[in-house]
Amino acid sequence: MRDRMPEPLKALLEQLVRLPGLGPKSAMRLAMALLKWPESETRRLGNGIHDLRDNLRLCSRCGGLSSTEVCAICADMARARDTLCLVAEWDSMLILDEGGFYHGQYMNLGGLLDPLDNKNSSNLDIERLTQRLAEGEITELILALGSTLEAENTDSFIQRTVCGRFPNVRVSRLAQGIPLGAEVKYMDKETLRQSLRYRQKLD
Ligand SMILES: [Zn+2]
Repeated sequence: MRDRMPEPLKALLEQLVRLPGLGPKSAMRLAMALLKWPESETRRLGNGIHDLRDNLRLCSRCGGLSSTEVCAICADMARARDTLCLVAEWDSMLILDEGGFYHGQYMNLGGLLDPLDNKNSSNLDIERLTQRLAEGEITELILALGSTLEAENTDSFIQRTVCGRFPNVRVSRLAQGIPLGAEVKYMDKETLRQSLRYRQKLD
């Protein structure tokens, strides 16, 4: 069937199946849907994909995505300048910020250490982190990398290699708590282990 497929459609399908969650069948369904769209709409989608490359850049402060040299969060002078929240991916930063409970600075580390997947520290933006801490404004670094094994490895790597050089910077991490409304008996072992390990002292 593939041999009889017109070249432009074949080319599009080859690109679509590279997207997360899309197999050959769903890629075909998508392509068929696109063909039914009015031409202006398909062009708009195409331009949107073009713009991602042409008009998006990395913020020079946090390494997050931005359309300007410094992103809106970093440019916001009303935010606290003494706390830095470190995330592994840019979208975690968006989600944390949508919560509205954190008003400090952010930095995107660009990934996590995963020795099994050959992801070593050269994939992480350690240089930017070191620079931010060396500026001397940050007094607390919040590690918000998650609670996976990779995140834990990365937490300790950062504590070992970066934080040691900045003894005046307090390091904390998100508490690995039990989700609100969940009963202990239904928790998975790992969550419970974390909850116990990072148990908080009650007044
Ligand atoms: Zn920024």
